[in-house]
Amino acid sequence: MDEKMNEKTNEKVNEEIFVRKKFQEYYSSHYVKGPKYISSREFGFGTFDKKIESRHFSFSSEYELNSYLKRNAPIYISYSVAKYRYPTARMDKKEMISSDIVFDIDANEVAGFHKLNCDHDKKFVCEKCFEKTIECTQNLIDFLKEDFGLSNDEIEVNSSGNRGFHVHIIKDIDLDSNARRKICNYLNGNIQFIFENVRPNSGGWKGRIANFFLDKLRKGELKVFRINKKKINEIYQNITKLQKNIEEGNWSFFSKRILENIKRASIEKYSCCVDQQVTIDLTKLIRLPDSLHGETGFVAKRIKISDLDSFKFEKIIVFSQENKIKVKADCGKFFLDEYFGPYKGEVELPEYLAIYLICKKVASLA
Ligand SMILES: [Zn+2]
Repeated sequence: MDEKMNEKTNEKVNEEIFVRKKFQEYYSSHYVKGPKYISSREFGFGTFDKKIESRHFSFSSEYELNSYLKRNAPIYISYSVAKYRYPTARMDKKEMISSDIVFDIDANEVAGFHKLNCDHDKKFVCEKCFEKTIECTQNLIDFLKEDFGLSNDEIEVNSSGNRGFHVHIIKDIDLDSNARRKICNYLNGNIQFIFENVRPNSGGWKGRIANFFLDKLRKGELKVFRINKKKINEIYQNITKLQKNIEEGNWSFFSKRILENIKRASIEKYSCCVDQQVTIDLTKLIRLPDSLHGETGFVAKRIKISDLDSFKFEKIIVFSQENKIKVKADCGKFFLDEYFGPYKGEVELPEYLAIYLICKKVASLA
């Protein structure tokens, strides 16, 4: 028993040494741009087993950060969304200056909200939940611009390096946890709402709901609101008048039940599915953009907003797609631009995929 356990531990140590060596190669040839106000940030590092194993570190400059990465190649590196007067002090002595606003959108959360019935291991994504995750991130960007008046320059989007995206607001806005919670509720469509002044030119959710309905009306897709055939016929017989009414915010043609369905379908369409816990935590340590993710071996890359729609995992792969590595794997089917697996037993894979599965802890070096 002991021997077996030792063998298992050794195996894991070997994998971690291997991954760390690959990470070191990467950091030796790639410069990582540090966060703004780097010297006021707290940094944390993780190992194979723990995303944040040690914290309360700081770097005086980007140069120092890069020297550290080259030397130590941590499996994870995170930094504080907060700026502190004393970033290396213990929590109660740090003296927070302010805290950036960051949103996290993860495929697991998205799949849960949209009841996608994904049948894969939660470590992975499928085409369905990942596509929806991109949509939710796009929704968030639209909200930030249209409802909160931010410009593209004030929004930074990163691949999380795993199953989703992090959206950072690059602007000093001082909001406490409570205000952040309210914003998350708003973005997720968790709102108290009455059907008043719901017009296509209304701002916020009301405008979205009116426009969504009118769009479905024009396309003949009213079934999404679970309106029955008889009522649909009635709607199209009165379409001109109805459109005019909606322009004026008059929905009296519809029953309470239908209005509730219209609201629900609109929320499903536009919800951002942000993880509230991440945004409300003022002391959160979050993945450093452009650093490697220890659960995938991918880079948490900054991406252009205009490139989000066409995001491909290919863009965050850093290790070789040509070199082959033999691993012992045990996993089901998973999606990375295309489907891979299932794998059971020894298999020769491109280096990046072998590292991905090792980092996911479903494969070991053969
Ligand atoms: Zn899925």
